[in-house]
Amino acid sequence: MDRADHAGAVVIGGGITGCSVAYHLARAGVRDVSLVEKGELTSGSTCHAAGLVTQFNPSPTMMRFRRYSIELYRELGVFETVGSLRFASSKEQLMELQRTASRARGIGLDVELVSADEAARLMPAITTRSLFGAVWVPGDGSLDPHTATHALARAARELGAQVTTGVRVTGIELSNRGAISAVVTETTSCPTTCPASAIPTTSCTASRRPRA
Ligand SMILES: Cc1cc2nc3c(=O)[nH]c(=O)nc-3n(C[C@H](O)[C@H](O)[C@H](O)COP(=O)(O)OP(=O)(O)OC[C@H]3O[C@@H](n4cnc5c(N)ncnc54)[C@H](O)[C@@H]3O)c2cc1C
Repeated sequence: MDRADHAGAVVIGGGITGCSVAYHLARAGVRDVSLVEKGELTSGSTCHAAGLVTQFNPSPTMMRFRRYSIELYRELGVFETVGSLRFASSKEQLMELQRTASRARGIGLDVELVSADEAARLMPAITTRSLFGAVWVPGDGSLDPHTATHALARAARELGAQVTTGVRVTGIELSNRGAISAVVTETTSCPTTCPASAIPTTSCTASRRPRA
């Protein structure tokens, strides 16, 4: 049985999420990871992204995820560190930023509460009118979404994953128990079925089953 009709996991969609999922599955040791993209890599929302990558978030778990993303993008050589500012335009917003900054420090994130004047020094284009302060995160930055997605796809391929473009997934077949038994793709010749786990990244849902 070749890889065209068998896969350990099928990832549907070649945006930043799909390429990242394929990379992490392959890195975790899942064999025969197959990513299927109907167009070209980054032909969905990813090509519209501004590419800002920030860590500051009310949830410490999300901050850990985001910190890890930046570490990964740095490893891949696609990240540019420029720092970020989050502004408070009321006393209440400033208090909220203070609380989140304290949670951020709790997980070891480098964040600094700065005055309105300091924020204007860091970003001269702003006015200090109605500005109560800001949070400065020096490790935040930006990337080119196209370059980052292709870097993840390349890293996934290097770990043995197969990345196929120009093939649309047309269906997911379920077994009697409701487990995913096949992913159906549209090809010019005939549909291909892959007994596999299916991870649709296009709808941000995931479904896995152990390999048969
Ligand atoms: C204007 C704009 C600016 C943004 N700026 C930022 C930003 O600065 N920072 C940030 O973090 N986020 C930003 N985002 C959000 C970010 O772009 C998305 O969260 C991210 O790109 C989602 O990636 P994805 O891989 O989940 O989806 P997508 O990139 O949409 O990937 C889904 C892929 O699935 C493929 N597909 C769909 N159906 C099938 C099928 N049946 N078979 C095979 N393939 C299929 C599509 O062709 C597509 O390539 C921005 C979004 C927009 C629109």
